[in-house]
Amino acid sequence: MNQEPQPGRFGQFGGRYVPETLVPALEELAAEFELAWSDPEFRSTFESLSRDYVGRPTPLTEANRLSESTGLQVSVKREDLCHTGAHKINNALGQCLLAQRMGKKRIIAETGAGQHGVATATVCALFGLECEVYMGEEDCARQELNVFRMKLLGAKVVPVRSGTKTLKDALNEAMRDWVTNVRSTHYVIGTAAGPHPYPHMVREFQSVIGSETRTQYQERHGRLPDVGIACVGGGSNAIGFFHAFLGDDVRLIGVEAGGLGLPTGHHAAPLSAGSPGVLHGSYSYMMQDDDGQVLPTHSVSAGLDYPGVGAEHSYLKDTARVEYVVATDEEALAAFRRVAELEGLIPAFETAHAFAALWQAGLLQPGSRVVVNMSGRGDKDMERASRLLGL
Ligand SMILES: *Cc1c(COP(=O)(O)O)cnc(C)c1O
Repeated sequence: MNQEPQPGRFGQFGGRYVPETLVPALEELAAEFELAWSDPEFRSTFESLSRDYVGRPTPLTEANRLSESTGLQVSVKREDLCHTGAHKINNALGQCLLAQRMGKKRIIAETGAGQHGVATATVCALFGLECEVYMGEEDCARQELNVFRMKLLGAKVVPVRSGTKTLKDALNEAMRDWVTNVRSTHYVIGTAAGPHPYPHMVREFQSVIGSETRTQYQERHGRLPDVGIACVGGGSNAIGFFHAFLGDDVRLIGVEAGGLGLPTGHHAAPLSAGSPGVLHGSYSYMMQDDDGQVLPTHSVSAGLDYPGVGAEHSYLKDTARVEYVVATDEEALAAFRRVAELEGLIPAFETAHAFAALWQAGLLQPGSRVVVNMSGRGDKDMERASRLLGL
């Protein structure tokens, strides 16, 4: 049967579960995005800033010592070399360009570890846009350096004191701000989650990761890789990396935060151990109790410490096109150290979860050609790492 796919839905997932006042704004945003994305002038501005400001294309690095030590053939896509040190700026740049085009001069964002806040504050400085970033009070204390960075970049950081004082509360607060100020304000969501059009739009802005990788791999190896691996928080680096390969015979593996281990309940793995429900405006896998209340999460990595996940990942899980596994805090830390020693690459704690898959027993066929998406660099995690590793 030739069914018209429903906009904003990935199978049964996605949608727009928001207060009525936001519906017109989301409709406008969806329409403006489609217009912009098919406008050669917008695309050309996005591409030239991606090249000259962000530093794209990022390299694809052959990880020879890592390959030798794992018995695999590992390449690494270097999103850590993007300006500000992670993939998040691809999305912040795209959304701020769109906001400018829509005549919105005020930008709001939510942030957990502060990486998305920094990326957004950076692009706002570049464009001269007003920027306010909501951040849980707990996270502000844990990520002082990023709070300072945002302030230095001219952004206002608003500490959020409700709930667990972390990312999900910052998201709620940013939504509330948007409801009130929707005429003047664009809300830059930092991952491929939230109500339509965010999961679709963020994927498009991040899909440059996979399309570059596909071309680079093919040029160098004359074929496609066997496997692509990325870590999954809200899912933006993973969906941006996977998207170009969905139609290929390439195995795709998303790695969630296993925290202290799935049986302990202390993790952030909604796809592996959650169930479908509505969170932050979208129907998707999430961590919830029997009453539908959001469960607390745990991960060594602040960027993966989120109880929800983008709707497209839920669809890709249920259709079995992508496999989702977990790496525990301990596995991620071990991988973090090994990658540093073997390759001179210090990954972000988030990214270390993706690398950890290389050592998981029985997961990968010996000799497989694997590309790991290095979503970000680990500078922000040095203090934590030195304490945890006791070096
Ligand atoms: C924020 C972040 C992530 C997690 O977010 P996604 O939307 O799942 O990509 C992963 N890696 C790094 C380096 C991050 O900063």
